[in-house]
Amino acid sequence: MKIIANLKMNKTVQETKEYLTTIVSKYNKKHELTLCLPYTSLALGQFFLEGNEFIKMGAQNVCDEEVDKCTGEISAQMLKSTGAHSVIVGHSERRVKFRETGRSINKKIKLALKNGLQVILCVGENLAERNSKKTKESLKDQLEDCLKGLYENELENITIAYEPVWAIGTGKIPLMREIEQSVKYIRKNIVEYFSQKAGDEIKVVYGGSVNNKNVLSIIRIPGVDGVLIGGACLDANNFLQLLSILPN
Ligand code: PEP
Repeated sequence: MKIIANLKMNKTVQETKEYLTTIVSKYNKKHELTLCLPYTSLALGQFFLEGNEFIKMGAQNVCDEEVDKCTGEISAQMLKSTGAHSVIVGHSERRVKFRETGRSINKKIKLALKNGLQVILCVGENLAERNSKKTKESLKDQLEDCLKGLYENELENITIAYEPVWAIGTGKIPLMREIEQSVKYIRKNIVEYFSQKAGDEIKVVYGGSVNNKNVLSIIRIPGVDGVLIGGACLDANNFLQLLSILPN
């Protein structure tokens, strides 16, 4: 099972130090836990997490260019040099607030993979799409745009996070059978673009208002390989409490 924590734009370096001290000393599960830290905490993350068998460090974004004329951006190569193991791409907050397109996300994925980073690709419908029963179309379009030109063997380094936009940070989640259907549909698309084997083997996690109360039901959904957690990971002790609910 994969557990991905997205700390978003939270924690000063000092706060990250306290957070990592607590998590590293108390995490006792054998599931892969990826802590996606803000850029400013990556150096510290490297210090705390380098060589850790179960806790990996991720970033939350990467530049879609590799040339140097991108003031304020961070390249995949630079991320890799911090010891980052993976990077989130296509988070809905970036798609909406920073107008990231499928084309740009596709470039980010290719650069991340080229530089040896694992990719956590977020896809999900927004509320208008859900209300007009266009969840499938939305997922299909996003997957098609983001995965264009990739080779099947690259999928082993990609995790897809199904994150309904309307569920992120709202306390609302889809019905369990809706999550199951969407995850199944994501796999169906992978089968169509690549192969049956690729669709069966790709890792798909659910994200959006995961908390202590719903996490067990979510990880039991057929086809779901784990969870991506935002708000509920921010307090280290609360997060550890959530993690303690999971089977070993
Ligand atoms: C997220 O930021 O990707 C996320 C899932 O957030 P939350 O758990 O707060 O909904």
